[in-house]
Amino acid sequence: MHQLALCDFELSIFSDGTYPLDGGAFFGVIPKVMWSRRVAADERNYVAAGLNSLFIRTGSHNVLVETGMGNKLSERMIKFYGQPAKLLDNLAAAGISPEDIDIVINSHLHFDHCGWNTVRDKTGKIVPTFPRAKYYAPEGEWQYARRPSERDAISYLPENYDPLVESGQMTLLKGGEEIVPGISVQTFSGHTAHMQAVIIGSGGGLPSGANAPNRVALNGTVRLASLAQGRLETEAVPSPVRTVRTACYISDLIPTTAHIDATWGMGFDLYPLDTIESKKRYYAQAIPENWLTVFTHDPKMPWAYIERDELGKMVAKGV
Ligand SMILES: [Zn+2]
Repeated sequence: MHQLALCDFELSIFSDGTYPLDGGAFFGVIPKVMWSRRVAADERNYVAAGLNSLFIRTGSHNVLVETGMGNKLSERMIKFYGQPAKLLDNLAAAGISPEDIDIVINSHLHFDHCGWNTVRDKTGKIVPTFPRAKYYAPEGEWQYARRPSERDAISYLPENYDPLVESGQMTLLKGGEEIVPGISVQTFSGHTAHMQAVIIGSGGGLPSGANAPNRVALNGTVRLASLAQGRLETEAVPSPVRTVRTACYISDLIPTTAHIDATWGMGFDLYPLDTIESKKRYYAQAIPENWLTVFTHDPKMPWAYIERDELGKMVAKGV
């Protein structure tokens, strides 16, 4: 289990499983001779993509960023992507029930990011999976999702969000809002026009420094935890190099650690040149401030620090 402490917040990764994606589409214009050095493809040229949700305990709120692929895919989509549908089981294994979630944030509304927002009840009616939660998603995404282009219409499944917007349970965001103290959203266009990253900690708008409240004070330890035989074993170890002050769920701007070079965008990106500019804007702040980056689709390394090595090449350093 991936878990760490960020000041007073506790951050954990929960997966909805993995699914196959065409390696060519996943790496856009990058030739296979290059991307296959980083990620292995099977005989059909598929690579494994993760579905990582970030769970944050702030002390006053339980926040879930992204809800995976869910369990409502059509037979046709299941043929392409399978339907691992493991998120609720993985949350339950850590003692977290759907009723425990106070806030759900979607970075954008593609089917593999908001699938568990809703489920079908016994009568087939679409109902919120997290009954008590306030849901948040980018307003521009929702507007676009109502009339998507023919290119990406398949990625938008209205039952994941329309019933929540209609009932008032989902709030639409302009970008830049602070949702709870220490958790805010910021628009990074490229993958879609309105995708929002979720920023947690001092980079999320909270003051830092000597006079800052406790929850943003420097925390000298990173807590590593493992779930062994159903028991959460927590080991506090001194952080030798740095402190987690800010984490960012960067979503499909940088879907995996193999996509950290500015020009390694996905073929799915609607605005590939914007992806490059948005990555540069992100790195300009995240690298000097040592942000922990959370990767939606990395099946092995859900979070890492992004650095430049001596040659200026981008590298991901695991926690
Ligand atoms: Zn997407």
